[in-house]
Amino acid sequence: MGQITSGRVRLLAAVIAIMTLLVAAVAGASPLLANDHQAGAGSSEHGHCHEDTGEGCEEPGQSGDDHGKPDKGNPNDGKDGCEGDGNAGRGNDGSCPTDPDPDETTKAKVGFGKRALTPVGEPPAEWVEFFHPHPVTGVWGEEFVDLDEDGCYDTGIKLDTPDDPDAVIGMINEPREPHVDDPWNSAGDAHENGAFEVDGVTIYGDPQSTGKWDGLWTNAGFGSRCTLGAHDDTWARAVVVEVGGDTVAMVSLDVVGFFNDEVRRAAKELAIRYPELPIDQLVISSTHTHESVDTMGYWGENLGIDGKFPAYQAFIRSQIIDAVADAYKAREKAYAKFAVTEYTTAIRDSRPPQVIDPYLLAAQFVREDGSTIGSVVNWSNHPEAQGSGNPYISSDFPHGTRMELEEKLGGTAVYFSGSVGGLMTPLRENVPGYGTEVSWERTYALGRLVAEQAITALSTAPVEGINDLQHERREFYMESDNTAIRALNQIGVFDLPTYAGAESWGMDPEQHRDGVYARREGYQLRTEMIAVQFGPALFLTVPGELFPELELGGYGRPDCPAADTGKPYEPVISEQFDAEYQFILGLGQDELGYIVPGYDFWIKKLPENNPDGSGLIPIGALEQDDPCGEGHYEETVSASSVMAPWVTCVAAELAGRNPWASEAACAHEHTHLNPYGINE
Ligand SMILES: [Zn+2]
Repeated sequence: MGQITSGRVRLLAAVIAIMTLLVAAVAGASPLLANDHQAGAGSSEHGHCHEDTGEGCEEPGQSGDDHGKPDKGNPNDGKDGCEGDGNAGRGNDGSCPTDPDPDETTKAKVGFGKRALTPVGEPPAEWVEFFHPHPVTGVWGEEFVDLDEDGCYDTGIKLDTPDDPDAVIGMINEPREPHVDDPWNSAGDAHENGAFEVDGVTIYGDPQSTGKWDGLWTNAGFGSRCTLGAHDDTWARAVVVEVGGDTVAMVSLDVVGFFNDEVRRAAKELAIRYPELPIDQLVISSTHTHESVDTMGYWGENLGIDGKFPAYQAFIRSQIIDAVADAYKAREKAYAKFAVTEYTTAIRDSRPPQVIDPYLLAAQFVREDGSTIGSVVNWSNHPEAQGSGNPYISSDFPHGTRMELEEKLGGTAVYFSGSVGGLMTPLRENVPGYGTEVSWERTYALGRLVAEQAITALSTAPVEGINDLQHERREFYMESDNTAIRALNQIGVFDLPTYAGAESWGMDPEQHRDGVYARREGYQLRTEMIAVQFGPALFLTVPGELFPELELGGYGRPDCPAADTGKPYEPVISEQFDAEYQFILGLGQDELGYIVPGYDFWIKKLPENNPDGSGLIPIGALEQDDPCGEGHYEETVSASSVMAPWVTCVAAELAGRNPWASEAACAHEHTHLNPYGINE
């Protein structure tokens, strides 16, 4: 079946999307509520002492002390004995920091790599023919005639113009600027065969790009905005860990989200470009920066028209695999330090119940001489501190985090976003010394504060060898009941392959039946999760924006018991794994929107509101207030009402448990839907 491109369907989708964005704007303006939740997480015993020397070993009775805030100390100074008790939250047993003991064994080799994604200025030589930097702004896109010389490609139709009081939505304000359609952006089939490639990386042309200007729109996540340049670089940053014969690459991407089909393409292309690289598992997690380009399709020239730029999507994958190759080639014998602390500055939960993930996790990989190979930080907040009015590409506050880590520790720093659903935002929150108003200084300062916390926590962490590595991947097919997202996919905005008839429920391989590939007409989405464990650390991907209670517990609506839907509470992810340091890689392997617990999932079922079939929009997923009048915006941009059971139950499975029969939330009735409509 061909692609549906009638104006009417486009308009319908645009209306749905506009309404979704409008409710988003209203949700964003809701009154501030203080963060008061401290989620409980079990702490586990984990000895960090060197058993042969006794160095760093605790005295009996030392653990369980009242753990204060970690002392500040020189992170590279490991020879002055204990500087204080570094305990905070889970993990970190307070033992003394030290340089690696020469007798300590480590089987790990660790390497870091980074490649810029910034679509401004002169492209790398092999990509020059595919991008045309604007003569003034340097921003990449198809060549166009900038009639009004404002640096922006003007579509002639104003849809997102909050700054222009005279603009009318849908009004034609000016002529559409002429552009040159490059063949590679529309050549081939969007899902299979691209006609153009760069050293094994294919440009998957999109039929919808025919006649459309392909270029970079920024502020994805908020809306769509003309890009006028870059304020700091966006990156693909990779850490490769090899132990024994096993090698895992974990990549952080400064984009709003990267769908699973793109992740799969990157894995395939990595093997084509670097057949000699024995990467057993490729993990890709988006930071979700709202200050960069549309990599999903939702925030293009007009709502309802795919905003992705096919050549740039291919370029991102190319940079990912080069960053992985750089990291692999740079790998060297490594020891590790792990730390966790609590840091809740400038995190606001935008809706009740107030549940935030307070944990800031850090890892530092060091050489025998104590010098740093690289570091990893994991924190749970939306990288949107620069707000919705910014026309410059940026990685937002993680830029400040990485700068500070690299200045103070050396090596390459990687930032992973954690449980950002709920949603966790720094907007209008106080950043000490910089207030609540958006500014570049405040954005980067927040990032530096995060890094300082990580450095302090790491300064008292013991150095340990890594002698084990496990990794597990689980693919599953999930029904999507968000009809707005399905409609947008059907008209070619998201380009997600869809499936029908899959049955991937349960651990028993007999029950893993793959669906029939149905392109854009199916109702099931295929996604995946990966768990990587080495030393005392777990790195778990979740395919979207995870509500923190799914990670840490704290279910229920004490503020409004009537708002609890009665759906069973999902298994708490942190309770499934024994690992002492649990890094959650949000938007990992996919970005299917918010992962909302069933007890708190409310969405408007329009057909019920219009029993006679009348109404403005026959399909759609519109925001539904709960019985206490609280808005539930996140559900409108969540692919499925059963995503939370899937994600938590698969997490339990990845932890080696079998939750499918024992956990109510994992039962068939809570992980499956009426495939032809909204779940009842
Ligand atoms: Zn988000």
